[in-house]
Amino acid sequence: AQDRVFNFAAGPATLPENVLRKAESELVNWRGAGMSVMEMSHRGKEFLSIVQKAESDLRKLLDISDDYAVLFLQGGATTQFAGIPLNICKPEDPVDYIVTGSWGDKAFKEATKYCKPKVIWSGKSEKYTAIPAFDGLDQNPHARYLHICANETIHGVEFKDYPTPKNKDAILVADMSSNFCSKPVDVSKFGIIYAGAQKNVGPSGVTIVIIRKDLIGNAQGITPVMLDYKIHAENNSLYNTPPCYGIYMCGLVFEDLLDQGGLVEVEKKNVIKAQVLYDAIDESKGFYRCPVGKSVRSLMNVPFTLEKSELEGEFVKEAAKESMIQLKGHRSVGGMRASIYNAMPLAGVEKLVAFMKDFQAKHG
Ligand code: PMP
Repeated sequence: AQDRVFNFAAGPATLPENVLRKAESELVNWRGAGMSVMEMSHRGKEFLSIVQKAESDLRKLLDISDDYAVLFLQGGATTQFAGIPLNICKPEDPVDYIVTGSWGDKAFKEATKYCKPKVIWSGKSEKYTAIPAFDGLDQNPHARYLHICANETIHGVEFKDYPTPKNKDAILVADMSSNFCSKPVDVSKFGIIYAGAQKNVGPSGVTIVIIRKDLIGNAQGITPVMLDYKIHAENNSLYNTPPCYGIYMCGLVFEDLLDQGGLVEVEKKNVIKAQVLYDAIDESKGFYRCPVGKSVRSLMNVPFTLEKSELEGEFVKEAAKESMIQLKGHRSVGGMRASIYNAMPLAGVEKLVAFMKDFQAKHG
């Protein structure tokens, strides 16, 4: 609709308009229930049908086998930074972290409270613009897991394939908050995938954990009940009151992604959008720059700077006047960042690129 902006925010982020319209049409009276999803008992048959459908659609999208549990939790991905070591490790267990940006660093720091994590590779000295080669990694042969952040939202670096833990009993754990459901993923390579919903699949307040079932049930004694995967798995994410409305919204997004033809089709669109934007940056003769190594540039979060950095404020302000908002880079890195998640249409990226060309013509 005319009055909707192109929202390039990193999260909470833009949602598909058709999904919002559908939610609007069901807001006051969900499918004849005589009430909204917000007012339903989480144990009633209506909400059970919603959460079960959301789970089964997500299983279809990512082709998740029955060996994995799918949990809809709360507390954001940040809570899982603690939940993972608490569930997988004893306090003395070593674990490895590859740190390709600020989120991986936060995950590592939280884990120091619950096990013995080590950063086996950090991109900090290169300002987080790279992903390591996997063969040279100094993995601990006794590590219980290897943790990565599949897509660093702030720095715009994304794993294009995945390392294998050296210890054959160890698992790969991935924070997929900012590229969840943006492309097909071979879930069987991972012990745990976790993601906050508020970028690609719904509103904030829902955190999705996909965990291999045999890993469940070993939480440390001090683990709060709300962080114990066993409790949530045994209760099908309904141990306590879940984020009902958020789960419903995620379900509508999953349906929409399936309607689009699934994640193979979704990835094709994301590749094209990212290409259009990175090309505009690379072809600007240095007026715009993206510091990230070309082979590991994120399809979701595109950071860029202006050669004339004094113009960055004006860039963001002028873009906002044309209904393209939230283009300011994260406060820790500066510059600009365009987040182009699944729900950002190609038209939004094309409009941004046209604006960038005009802005360069004016100021170049
Ligand atoms: N990991 C990544 C990759 C993120 O982008 C974010 C949020 N921006 C987080 C973790 C933290 O998520 P939450 O705010 O849901 O705790």
